[in-house]
Amino acid sequence: MSTATVESYQFQAETTQLLHLMIHSLYTEREIFLRELISNASDALDRLRFESLTNSELVPQDHKYEIRLKPDQKAHTLTISDTGIGMSRDELIQNIGTIARSGTQELRKRIQESSSAQAFAELIGQFGVGFYSAFMVSEKVIVITRRAGEQMATKWESTGDGTYTLEPAERAAIGTDIILHLKKADPENGIEDYADRWKLATIVHRYSDLIAYPIMYEGPSEKKVNQMTGEELPPDQQGPEIETKVLNSMKPIWTRKQSEVTKEDYFEFYKHIAHDWTEPLKTLPFKAEGVHEYEALLFIPSHAPYDLFYHGSEAGLRLYSKRVMVMEKCEDLLPRYLRFIKGVVDSSDLPLNISRQRLQQDRHIGQIKKWLTRKVLDALAEMQEKDPETYLKFWKEFGRAMKEGVSADYENKDKILSLLLFESSNDPEKLTTLKDYAGRMKPEQSEILYLTGESRKVIENSPHLEAVRKKDYEVLYMSDPVDELLVQHVFEYEGKKLKSIAKGNIQLGTEEEKKQAEEELKKKQEEYSSLLETVQKKLDEYVKQVRLSNRLVSFPACLVTEEHEYSPQLERLLQKGKGGGPKQRRILEINPNHPITLRLYDRFQTNKEDATVGDSIELLYSLALLAEGSEIPDPVRFNQLTLQMMERTL
Ligand code: ADP
Repeated sequence: MSTATVESYQFQAETTQLLHLMIHSLYTEREIFLRELISNASDALDRLRFESLTNSELVPQDHKYEIRLKPDQKAHTLTISDTGIGMSRDELIQNIGTIARSGTQELRKRIQESSSAQAFAELIGQFGVGFYSAFMVSEKVIVITRRAGEQMATKWESTGDGTYTLEPAERAAIGTDIILHLKKADPENGIEDYADRWKLATIVHRYSDLIAYPIMYEGPSEKKVNQMTGEELPPDQQGPEIETKVLNSMKPIWTRKQSEVTKEDYFEFYKHIAHDWTEPLKTLPFKAEGVHEYEALLFIPSHAPYDLFYHGSEAGLRLYSKRVMVMEKCEDLLPRYLRFIKGVVDSSDLPLNISRQRLQQDRHIGQIKKWLTRKVLDALAEMQEKDPETYLKFWKEFGRAMKEGVSADYENKDKILSLLLFESSNDPEKLTTLKDYAGRMKPEQSEILYLTGESRKVIENSPHLEAVRKKDYEVLYMSDPVDELLVQHVFEYEGKKLKSIAKGNIQLGTEEEKKQAEEELKKKQEEYSSLLETVQKKLDEYVKQVRLSNRLVSFPACLVTEEHEYSPQLERLLQKGKGGGPKQRRILEINPNHPITLRLYDRFQTNKEDATVGDSIELLYSLALLAEGSEIPDPVRFNQLTLQMMERTL
């Protein structure tokens, strides 16, 4: 090959930065490079198998799907070869020259923030930069790869210093060789001899035993020794110099008896499919027997991915049919709100070559989805009951996704509702379920009370809470923006209505007490009617009704909405969106027993035109807004009025 065809490239800046960090990090477990490369090889074999289903010409007859590890002690290299799908020249540039992920920015930020080697290692997994781990043990890496369906191969070479070269190459068959020019062994710095037979066998056994393709060792055979003396036998009594041996057991983990699989085995498998280095929070093996047989091995990660709430974030389970991968990321096996779950599903009822479109309509897929969803929700309910500590961890990471489920999964709505946790006035430290709340309700209480707001603090100090608190009724504090959407979809739980204490009318106590309170309020309402009218006129731009309140104690006024209207938080949220949202006029409620109201009323009775009355009304409105954490319409005016008031009173 003439050198004129060698072209040099610069890595994308992020890639260089990452490489640098990886090579120079205090990273201790260098041996995982092999797991990463084998994992890539296994994926490449899966992909070839999958593509060949629709394009049988891609794969030569008698094609062997396998991975080979070929050490060369003299040259001090290790070659990892696979007979998988390979890469075209463009794919090489895309996949190996760039970190072709939308999360690059995020990755860079997170790398800078990652404090420990462990955190860094997790990042490598999460962002799919496994290939570069080869540079932790290599001075130079060469990739020779030939894409299935193509005649020519391409050679990629780099010392990990920021540049790489590409040139056309030959390769007898499709697949990929990764040739590592190994760094000198330096056990003190964590660099072992990765061309060593035992070392390789150990690492494969440790991390890659369950890879579904044979991982063959092809290198110097073990020297035969005299059993008695332990001395090496002479060359003529030795076997062939090069030995080929399968290193892994290959049995797909989900087909094995649960009792035979260790936690470590599950974890290894999880790393392989999820690209996540932190132990999963929960492993869920499921098996359906009967007319249809499915097996599933699902994992709940212990951390939410950074893009869980980004539109179009990746999701999906690996779908196998009778142990053969049909699809790498099948999104139709679980509802979208459970997108954080990783794992595999193996079904014996699926045709192998099925298109994505057909898959969506496939009856079996629909059934599997139903079955899996139920299984997952049941498993979560069990965790909630039996292992609340783990459940709380789950909730902190994925609670928001579960809340999505309430509106998205009508069939399982009740199950999901039971899984939700909320902050509550009952206990500042502990979250509560709706069920526990219901158990604490007062005998005469018929509704589950809640209040939404910007934060726990804002809610706790909200005027709306006063009377309820005085009566010692528990209130759920909903401070997560998605709660606003949640309550749009939840009207009741186990026959008990959910009720916002900032909406509609509030009535507390026994029937008798309610009646009495209502009558009293009505009477006062009449007495104050001319004042209320004046307030209405003054604030007509902002409020649609002014009435007396029975929810206040120490506050003179508050704002409420009708039962069906948006809370101010949701209103703000909607207004931020495209095209803005509606601007609502709300209801101003005035505390008839507050000294300010009483004095205002006196002044109003004496002189209906008194300027102080008008100013006070304006101030009351602004104060009600501030108390609930909303913005006031005219801060300058508010300032002036407050100063004037102070001048008058001081
Ligand atoms: P990840 O495997 O997490 O996607 P890597 O950096 O390990 O990230 O690999 C990047 C991409 O390079 C892979 O997604 C794959 O498309 C391609 N690739 C890596 N190794 C191989 C291989 N042996 N055969 C074919 N493609 C490969």
